[in-house]
Amino acid sequence: MRQHGKLEYGGHAAPQRTCVGCRVRTAKSELLRLVRVEDHVVPDLRGRLPGRGASLHPSMSCLELAERRRALPRAFRVPGPLDVSRVRAHLEGEPRNVM
Ligand SMILES: [Zn+2]
Repeated sequence: MRQHGKLEYGGHAAPQRTCVGCRVRTAKSELLRLVRVEDHVVPDLRGRLPGRGASLHPSMSCLELAERRRALPRAFRVPGPLDVSRVRAHLEGEPRNVM
């Protein structure tokens, strides 16, 4: 007897975002949302800060890639460089293994 192949997603695919560092599309829930506060980029840990956001894998290599490509000023549509020290501190303080 044959069964219908049923998708397990409940009709919707999980929302996806593109990482500003490595540009890989990933489920939104696995990415860190970043927002801009004046000249600083800060991690939006609760996903509640207003304004334009950018998504980043919570990994230092993606942050470095984003910096090297100046992806963050582009993502936030500002001309100048942005200070990512708070994102960096957050990533450094994060335990590497969250699984
Ligand atoms: Zn990435």
